[in-house]
Amino acid sequence: MTTPRRLESYVCGRWTPGEKEGQVLLDAATGAPVARIDSSGIDFAATLAHGREVAGPKLRRMSFHERAGMLRALGQALMALTEEFYAESLHTGATRADGWIDIEGGIGTMLTFASKGRRELPNSRVLTDGTVEPLSRDNTFAAQHILTPLQGVAVHINAFNFPVWGMLEKIAPTLLAGVPCVVKPASQSAYLTELVTRRIIETGILPEGALQLICGSVGDMLDHLTGQDAVTFTGSATTGRKLKSHPAVVANSVRFTMEADSLNASILGTDAMAGTPEFDLFVKEVAREMTVKAGQKCTAIRRVIAPRGQVEALVAALGDRLGKTAVGLPGEESTRMGALASLDQREEVRARIRELQAGAEIVSGDPDAVHVASGDAGKGAFLNPVLLYADRPFEATAVHEVEAFGPVATVMPYDGIDEALRLAQMGKGSLVSSVFTDDPGIAEEVVLGVAPFHGRVLIGNRTSAKSSTGHGSPLAPLVHGGPGRAGGGEEMGGIRGVTHYMQRTAVQGAPRLLSAVTGRWIEGAAVQQGVHPFRKSLAELKIGDQLVTAARQITLEDVEHFAQFTGDTFYAHMNAEAARANPFFDDRVAHGYLVASFAAGLFVEPNPGPVLANYGVDNLRFVTPVYFGDSLRVRLTCKEINPRENAEHGEVRWDCQVTNQKGEVVAQYDVLTMVAKHWPLASAEAAE
Ligand code: NAP
Repeated sequence: MTTPRRLESYVCGRWTPGEKEGQVLLDAATGAPVARIDSSGIDFAATLAHGREVAGPKLRRMSFHERAGMLRALGQALMALTEEFYAESLHTGATRADGWIDIEGGIGTMLTFASKGRRELPNSRVLTDGTVEPLSRDNTFAAQHILTPLQGVAVHINAFNFPVWGMLEKIAPTLLAGVPCVVKPASQSAYLTELVTRRIIETGILPEGALQLICGSVGDMLDHLTGQDAVTFTGSATTGRKLKSHPAVVANSVRFTMEADSLNASILGTDAMAGTPEFDLFVKEVAREMTVKAGQKCTAIRRVIAPRGQVEALVAALGDRLGKTAVGLPGEESTRMGALASLDQREEVRARIRELQAGAEIVSGDPDAVHVASGDAGKGAFLNPVLLYADRPFEATAVHEVEAFGPVATVMPYDGIDEALRLAQMGKGSLVSSVFTDDPGIAEEVVLGVAPFHGRVLIGNRTSAKSSTGHGSPLAPLVHGGPGRAGGGEEMGGIRGVTHYMQRTAVQGAPRLLSAVTGRWIEGAAVQQGVHPFRKSLAELKIGDQLVTAARQITLEDVEHFAQFTGDTFYAHMNAEAARANPFFDDRVAHGYLVASFAAGLFVEPNPGPVLANYGVDNLRFVTPVYFGDSLRVRLTCKEINPRENAEHGEVRWDCQVTNQKGEVVAQYDVLTMVAKHWPLASAEAAE
């Protein structure tokens, strides 16, 4: 028999074993020892200080794009190592399909953050939030909300069920924000998190201290938290509440995100009778949610809410499907469901089922008689799926309160949509809910009824079935978290998840100084005129570089010509009488797009130069009608410069303001261009 490996924590730049032998962790499916875990002797205050002092400044010096590039490199490096992770994952009881969610789902989440960071964030270190608030008539005082990274450490405490995804989905947005992490995986499956962390550290991609790992207890770490730190917790509500009320968390207003257990409900619409595609999809989804990861998923369907008339058919179809689920060793190809995390966990689930039985009867499966297709039912934490039925669900409070964290769900009947909604709400807040219906009215009623109690709602029907990601999958661009019992936390949700590790600050001051802070030109800030800004490469271009064009008069012929040429003969441009009858116009008006086109004609510099392409406009508004004889000029100001990492060009945003002869703003928008970092282009030079 091999000696179980001794897990180490990665703290203060070193892999550090605990001082004691520690607890032995067993393979979930075979009962064989896998590892020992202990964190005694670790200086937790020094660990936090190492993150804050060594990694924090390095991460904050990087731009969002540099951090995104770091995450992409890391994600790609981990993708090349997945087989090693899958092999280790088998010890947790997870099948290959379960492992895929954890391992590739986790790495995919990291890569999604990498690409969102590059596409949706500026290549700078400050994030602006919302628009500039003008606070004076003469543009001498304004305000802008900004977001800057917290200067502490994010402590991520995770549950046992997703040892890889649980870590990566949290560290990706944290690192993108510029904040170092300390990860504390649940002991039961920490060997897999430790392995992935070793590989991460070995790549050398992260600055030292950006990721530290605690295998075992976090000791007195929470005592040393400050208001610049953040804690995220995923696990049971009992532990979560305890940590959330920790004296240092309370005293220092430490940001605390809690993702706790949740009794997610799925509702079968009244239109989805047996025989409809939605009924079949519902059966498939409930069975899948009960058996993926052996039901050890925070998002799994626990409460199955169905029209009373459909219950019999539903229970029969579910029982049939669940009864065929091959339970056994996770490495066997024929296995559909692996083991629970540990024998203790199985006892825990059995105890919860007994509590549920106070108001519900078992209609499929037997928690005490285990049937396995492979493996030893005495040594592995196997359990066949158990379906219960609560005939009087408003009286059976346990089914809305007790979470059996395994392949267990309860069917309950409803009479009328209102009852279905009330039952869903009895979960007191969950991560996710779903409704299976093809009826738009039912979809609307259910979603509006359950949305305030959930972080995510999925509508399942025949047309989305093939592409649907399913009830139980949290996705990087979508919010994961739920109110009330689910912990009240919110994770991911794309760039929203990044801002959880940043402080929002309203900054007020003179536009010139605000502009210096944000790196963005704003109205009232300094400008420079001279060389046409389109003649400048990124190496020369500065925020505030400005061009004011000559004026151009708009004539009747221009409008007639534009109308015939484009086919836009809308009456307000063509018919004076009809235009005057319109509440907004005094006469025929020029097309807005004609104004925008003439504006381009006024501001472009026609010769080949560093401006490579115009890729769109943002926030285009036509604010004042343009009549024949009006004379327009353009003021174009360089507003934001985003050089691309790994490319010879970047994006430049220009503030474009078109005014008439009275100085009234006629059109206002941002012009978006690609500009070369250097001119002439290196490739053009090479070609010469
Ligand atoms: P748990 O017992 O509450 O443990 C969660 C984490 O907290 C583990 O890392 C655990 O470490 C740690 N912990 C426990 N006591 C602590 C303390 N005094 N100080 C600091 N850390 C402490 O939960 P679990 O059994 O691992 O996970 C199962 C539960 O998590 C289920 O109820 C499930 O619904 C929930 N869950 C929720 C989500 C979600 O996103 N909402 C996701 C997955 C799971 P040790 O393992 O070392 O004790």
